[in-house]
Amino acid sequence: MLKIKNISKKYKNFALKDISFEVKKGDYFILLGNSGSGKSLLLELIAGLINANSGKIFLNDKDITNYKIQNRKIGLVFQDYALFPHFTVKENLLFPIKNKKTRIEKVNEIADLLNITHILHRFPEKLSGGEAQRVALGRTLITNPEILLLDEPLSSLDVQLRSGLRHLLKKINQNGQTIIHVTHDYDEAIALASKVAVIDNGKIIQQGDTDSVFKNPSSEFIANFIGLKNFFKSILHKKDEKSFVIADNNTKICLLSDNEEGEGFVMIRSEDIFIYDKFTESSALNNFEGIIKDAVPSRLGIEIAVKSTLLFWVLITKESYLRMNLFEGKKVWISFKASAVKFLKT
Ligand code: ADP
Ligand code: MG
Repeated sequence: MLKIKNISKKYKNFALKDISFEVKKGDYFILLGNSGSGKSLLLELIAGLINANSGKIFLNDKDITNYKIQNRKIGLVFQDYALFPHFTVKENLLFPIKNKKTRIEKVNEIADLLNITHILHRFPEKLSGGEAQRVALGRTLITNPEILLLDEPLSSLDVQLRSGLRHLLKKINQNGQTIIHVTHDYDEAIALASKVAVIDNGKIIQQGDTDSVFKNPSSEFIANFIGLKNFFKSILHKKDEKSFVIADNNTKICLLSDNEEGEGFVMIRSEDIFIYDKFTESSALNNFEGIIKDAVPSRLGIEIAVKSTLLFWVLITKESYLRMNLFEGKKVWISFKASAVKFLKT
């Protein structure tokens, strides 16, 4: 439906470089990247606020590269909402609709969907962040855009409002609205996206189904970005039908792999690594002695950094952390099964 083909845009100190991707009807497409990576610029290009130096944009097979904003049928919700301060909520919503007959009907319908009926007569300065965001969303939705572009729609809201708005965005998408949403928060991508593209310094470095991107990060940058910490450059070897890799500092890690020998990365999820006070015999083939270097509270428990020949991150519950009396500088053993190790060829 939307096809971005080899789009480039150069500024003095920044460039969007040869960007291509496709968004299908009904997709929830998330563009994930750090601050300054070019996400807002790319949305402005798609919306028609700025023009590219080269490349083309197609919407439903029509070349819209040189179309004016108002003829694109693409709606952009700005990060700062950009509501008209001297208009009430209702007037803000009415503003984009020209058809006199359906105006009130449409406002009521949208207000109902976004749960803003009770604030229709308020002015923007009297709105909370969550309300302002819903009004901004409404003002764009009311134009029936083919594609809804959202610039970090959740980033300025507190946690509770965020989860409410997430649900709302999901519902809007499930009603058939195609969405492109940019964010620096990978949790948002996991929660909402059907497709993901990762952008770094003006370039898209990986894209695909959300699941496949998160399960198979193609580079260390993406792995770190999505919070996967045990990610080591290594070389895969096979001997007597057994697979192992050699990573930095000559670290040998056993794994199960159908890949051919060669360079790549190994990944181990931090929740798949066990930690012990002393060497403990088990079925796990990978056992390392190390020293605790750090303990960081995370959403799911505590992540412990264990320095061995590599730095491993181990996720444990707070209960285990307290029970095992773990502290920085303590000597421990860690272990993980060959089946917990994943190899990605490069
Ligand atoms: P993001 O939204 O991912 O945080 P932006 O798309 O806003 O990043 O900006 C990407 C880079 O482009 C930044 O370094 C920014 O300073 C630069 N930039 C944005 N707009 C302009 C402009 N009009 N002229 C020159 N540089 C710009
Ligand atoms: Mg931005």
